[in-house]
Amino acid sequence: MSADKPIYVTQPFLPPLEDFIPYLREIWDAKVLTNGGPFHQRLEAALVEHLGIQHLSLFANGTLGLLTALQTLQVTGEVITTPYSFAATAHSLLWNNLTPVFVDIDPVTCNLDPEGIEQAITPRTTAIMPVHCYGTPCDVDRIRQIADTHGLKVIYDAAHAFGVRYRGESVLNHGDLSVLSFHATKVYTTFEGGAIVCPDAGTKKRIDHLKNFGFASEVTVLAAGINGKMNEVQAAFGLLQLPHVDQLIARRAQISRLYDNGLRSVDGIRLPCTLPEAQPNHSYYPIFIGDGFPVSRDAVYDHLRQHGVHARRYFYPLLSDMPMYSALPSAAPDRLPHAAKAAREVLCLPIYPALQDDDVTRVIELVLSCRTA
Ligand SMILES: *Cc1c(COP(=O)(O)O)cnc(C)c1O
Repeated sequence: MSADKPIYVTQPFLPPLEDFIPYLREIWDAKVLTNGGPFHQRLEAALVEHLGIQHLSLFANGTLGLLTALQTLQVTGEVITTPYSFAATAHSLLWNNLTPVFVDIDPVTCNLDPEGIEQAITPRTTAIMPVHCYGTPCDVDRIRQIADTHGLKVIYDAAHAFGVRYRGESVLNHGDLSVLSFHATKVYTTFEGGAIVCPDAGTKKRIDHLKNFGFASEVTVLAAGINGKMNEVQAAFGLLQLPHVDQLIARRAQISRLYDNGLRSVDGIRLPCTLPEAQPNHSYYPIFIGDGFPVSRDAVYDHLRQHGVHARRYFYPLLSDMPMYSALPSAAPDRLPHAAKAAREVLCLPIYPALQDDDVTRVIELVLSCRTA
């Protein structure tokens, strides 16, 4: 009956439970549960090493990382960002009383189009918040150049970009700050979790204060900070998970290749973007179902669902179509045609390390059978 078991878009990898017990015992013995305890310190050091970055500050989740990144750089006024992302990207701006300015995406990479960024700059613009969508690196050089020319900060929402490398180094080394998510649905997880990546020790110190209410010492509060701290159980799980992650990404790469082979020559389906100089993490497998396919994306989505395959429309609806943003001048649909097209055509197929080859075959066959259904 395996043909009927539901397949979800993702499934977390959990190492054997026994392997976690010694970590928990250590926490029980030390009785340090949070506030930068030993596992928190060890995980920060291990991630800096693993990712090939300078500094990183752990967070309870990625959204708190985004909120705190904007506070760290004291961003004000307008921030240029993408409509094609998860709600947290734009919400983090609204929670900081900032105005999102949406700019259209590049139709191939689904990342912010640098030309559009330049045209959207006003005297109130202070920062750019691009997303490395699906882990595909943004045009980091162009964005840096624009930011330098106009004196803007760059905060990358790097929630999809764990382990992604670009021209031989971590993509997280670009921008003033990059924010990771370790949510259960991401490539590398601490159940909930996240981090801000930054290039220098002074900035890390400021972030560390801000995520602990702004306390710099027992009696000194430097700023109106927040509680963004990752606890010891999360950090311990992160340490346990980390040695597995390269293998997990390698399995994701195999699954991507199976999908590529099954769907490559299908009229009307466009495969995920690959950049020659990028080493991807295969966090998602987005296909784009265009006019050349006999049925719509939503028809494929429904057909898969009826057969127990839960693909997801990331990202639909666009942020610019959500009620809290849709009245912004930059949210007008005719200004965002590429984003609108991607939102209409995208379908993220199931991809996770435990997905079996015959599950992938089943998903491919279901997509193909839409043509005759
Ligand atoms: C997952 C995600 C976030 C939010 O991260 P959390 O850890 O769930 O708070 C932010 N931006 C993007 C693009 C995401 O996919």
